[in-house]
Amino acid sequence: MTRKGVIWIAIYLLAAMAPLAVLLAGQMPPSKGFWWDFSIALGFAGMGMMGIQFALTSRFKIATRAFGIDIVYLFHRYLAIIALAVVLAHFAIFWFFHPDALGDLDPRTARTELTLGRAALLLFGLAVVTSEFRKLLRLEYGLWRYAHVAFATLGFAAAIGHIVGVGYYIEAPGKRALWLSVTLFWALAVVWVRILKPWSQLRHPYRVIEVRPERDNTWTLALEPSGHDGLSRFMPGQFAWLTLRCSPFLLREHPFSIVSAPERLPRIEFGIKELGDFTATIGGVKPGEIAYLDGPYGVFSVDRNQDARGFVGIVGGIGITPLLSMLRSLAERSDHRPVWLFYGSNSWDTVVYREEIEKLKKCLNLTVVYILEKPPDGWDGETGHLDAQMLERHLPKRGRDELRYFLCGPVPMTNAAEKGLHALGVPASRIQTEIFELV
Ligand SMILES: Cc1cc2nc3c(=O)[nH]c(=O)nc-3n(C[C@H](O)[C@H](O)[C@H](O)COP(=O)(O)OP(=O)(O)OC[C@H]3O[C@@H](n4cnc5c(N)ncnc54)[C@H](O)[C@@H]3O)c2cc1C
Repeated sequence: MTRKGVIWIAIYLLAAMAPLAVLLAGQMPPSKGFWWDFSIALGFAGMGMMGIQFALTSRFKIATRAFGIDIVYLFHRYLAIIALAVVLAHFAIFWFFHPDALGDLDPRTARTELTLGRAALLLFGLAVVTSEFRKLLRLEYGLWRYAHVAFATLGFAAAIGHIVGVGYYIEAPGKRALWLSVTLFWALAVVWVRILKPWSQLRHPYRVIEVRPERDNTWTLALEPSGHDGLSRFMPGQFAWLTLRCSPFLLREHPFSIVSAPERLPRIEFGIKELGDFTATIGGVKPGEIAYLDGPYGVFSVDRNQDARGFVGIVGGIGITPLLSMLRSLAERSDHRPVWLFYGSNSWDTVVYREEIEKLKKCLNLTVVYILEKPPDGWDGETGHLDAQMLERHLPKRGRDELRYFLCGPVPMTNAAEKGLHALGVPASRIQTEIFELV
C-alpha cells in the first residue's frame, strides 16, 4: 500500500473514533459496571463508523485517489456490516445485562430517545440487508439507491436524536461542542454529495454531439461541454458518472469508463453496451440532448505506472473501453513501449472497436490476441477461455514482472487471468483489476 493510502486509513480511523473520543473526553459519568460501559462505548464507536460511511460515498477525489473508488465502495460495503454488528451488540448487551434501561419497547408509550435508538438500528439494518440482498429481493437499482439514501440518512438522524436525547454522556459543555462538530462534519458530507455536487453538475452541462452504433449492441456516445471548458484533464482508463435525461439531483447516474483519449478533450466519448434499463436507451439519445458528468474517478490507468517497461491488457467484452482509452492515448503520445492486448469475445462479429484496434497496431508497438468463444471457420487464433498457457504462449519470457497488467471484464475471466499471471510469477502488485459492478 502507498504512503498516501496509509495516511488516509489513519485519517479514517481517527474520524471513526471521534465520537468515542467525545465520550471519553473530560469527566465521565459514574460507571455502572463493565457491560454498561462497554455497550455505551460500542454505541459511540458504531455511530462513528456509520457516520464515516457518508464520507466514504462522497467521492472526495483526494481521498479516493490512493485506492480507487471501487475499493472505497467495497470498504463502504464491508464496513457497514461491521458497523451494524457493533450497533447491534450495543443494543444486545443492554438487552441481556440491563433490560430495565431499555424501558418500554412499545413506541407509543416508550421514551422518545430510546425509540429513536431502536428506529436507527432498524433503519441501518434495512440499509444493509437491502444492499446485500438487492438482487435476491429483485430491487431495481434506481429504487434501491433512493431507499438506501433514505434509510441511511434517516437512520443517522434518529441515532443523533438518540444520543442527544439520552444526553447523559455529552452533557458537559466541552463535550457538547465536540459532539456538535462531529455531527456537523457528517451533515456537511451529506450536503456536499446530495446538494453541492449535483448543483455544480447542473451548472456545467454537456451536450450530446454524436451517437454512433458499434458492434455487439454497443454505442459510442460523444459529448462536449456546453458553456464551459469541460474537464481540464483525466487519466486514460478513468471513468465518470453520467446522467442523461434527468436532473443530477435525482441520483439516476451511471458509471462508464471514458473511451476517448484525454488528448482529445474537451470531447469525451463513452462506449456503452446495452445491458439493462438505462443502457438500452442510449441508442435513442439524440444529438443536442443535455448530459451531466461527475468525474473523472479511478486509478486504472497507464498514467499511474509511468515506470512500467510495457503494458498488458486482459479484457472481455465491454471491458475494452478503459483499455481503448489507454491505447488511444499512448498512440497520441507516440509512446512505443510494448503493449499486449488479450481480448476475449463471444465471436469475431462481437469484437467491439476491432477496426480501430487493428488501425492502432500500425502506430503502436501493439500485439493483439483475440480469444473467441465461437470462432468463425478457418480461425487460427486463440479460442475458448483465457488461461495460463495462453498467457505463456504470447507474453515475453523475460521481464514479465516489469510490465503492468490491466484486467477488465467478466469476473470469471479476470479471476482466470489473475490465476494465470500468478502461475507465470507476476507479482500481485503489478496487476490491477477494474470492477464494472460497484455494489
Ligand atoms: C467503474 C465502472 C466503469 C464502467 N464502464 C462501463 C463502460 O465503459 N461501458 C459499459 O457499457 N458499462 C460500463 N460499466 C457498467 C455500467 O455502469 C452498467 O452496465 C450500467 O450502469 C447498467 O445500468 P442499466 O440500467 O442499463 O442496467 P440494469 O439492468 O438496471 O443494471 C444491471 C446492473 O448494473 C448495475 N448498475 C445499474 N445501475 C447502476 C448505477 N447507476 N451505478 C452502478 N451500477 C449500476 C447494477 O449492479 C445492476 O444490477 C461500468 C461500471 C463501472 C462501475
